[in-house]
Amino acid sequence: MTPGRAAASGGAGRSASAVGFSVDARWERGAGWSGPTALVATERGVRPATGADPAPGRHLPGTVLPGLTDAHVHLALVDPAALRRGGLAAVDDLGGNPDVLAELARTPGLPVVRYAGAFLTAPGGYPSDRSWAPCGAVEEVAGPAPAVSAVDRQVAAGASFLKVVLHPGAGPELDDETLGAILTRARAHGRPVVAHVEGEGQARRAHEARVDRLAHAPFTERLPDDLVAAMARAQQWISTLDIHGWESPTREQDVALDNLSRFAAAGGTVVYGTDQGNGPLPAGVDPRELCALGAAGLAADDLLRALTSTPVATSTTYVPGPRPDPDAPPAAVAAWLASAVVLTTSDLVGSPPPPPEPLGKAHP
Ligand SMILES: [Zn+2]
Repeated sequence: MTPGRAAASGGAGRSASAVGFSVDARWERGAGWSGPTALVATERGVRPATGADPAPGRHLPGTVLPGLTDAHVHLALVDPAALRRGGLAAVDDLGGNPDVLAELARTPGLPVVRYAGAFLTAPGGYPSDRSWAPCGAVEEVAGPAPAVSAVDRQVAAGASFLKVVLHPGAGPELDDETLGAILTRARAHGRPVVAHVEGEGQARRAHEARVDRLAHAPFTERLPDDLVAAMARAQQWISTLDIHGWESPTREQDVALDNLSRFAAAGGTVVYGTDQGNGPLPAGVDPRELCALGAAGLAADDLLRALTSTPVATSTTYVPGPRPDPDAPPAAVAAWLASAVVLTTSDLVGSPPPPPEPLGKAHP
């Protein structure tokens, strides 16, 4: 047996390889920073080493943190392997053909894939008329009874959550009864509902319908403080600030930043997401999104919490080099995360993975 490796007993007769290693620093949700420290990686994830574990076999000069998640992507429109090379351990696809996504979720070498399946929208509603929407990526829902079967179809195809569209300026919209039927059916399956919200009054409508998560920080209008505070108690918002202009931020980004800063200040849960597939975003962790989140008032620890919205048991993140100070500006955190790599247990046994492609480069 090589140093640092031991057979640890798994459940039900399975055995998992346990790999001991040490790092300069570790960051965990809830626990914050620690280190230098000895850790153990198993198939179930990374945890602090105990006396019963194998001694550390190698030292990683840098920081280990949970897998980073982009909670808003469209895998049909990007190279999923490039997202993993760019430091993302997991992605949430918010609108695509569920059968294609189920296949991607089984493909090795990609980020962990969770998905909504098809966009649920009104007949002829957004984005059914968009050229970028792939075949099977939109379900046109013509009333409460079809809503039930549309939700059932996504869940049967492996959806972890549902995606609804509230965008009346771009075509027909779901009526309240149909929207309510989607939410009720999703709840019955234990699946949260994520909404695309665009147009005046739609953020309030999503809140009153008890949508769980918004796919974009609201960017149409400045929301009143009392509504923002109520939403902060009830909902999560995915950021997607960088899509408003990319290199050249637009008025929509100003509106979204204004809403998001008040949402965060009111204690709302901000989730990192970029809408990968929508315009020239860097493939992987997006430094511009992190800087924009910093402008919304998120500190270094808040950025890491937003980036680790989903537990990813099968992999962890390694960032070589010295960690940023707790009060480092967002740009410093973004620059540090530019060298993040996704590690699995087998990576920790073998040689270190090559560094990722530099960030900040637009995806072709
Ligand atoms: Zn999207």
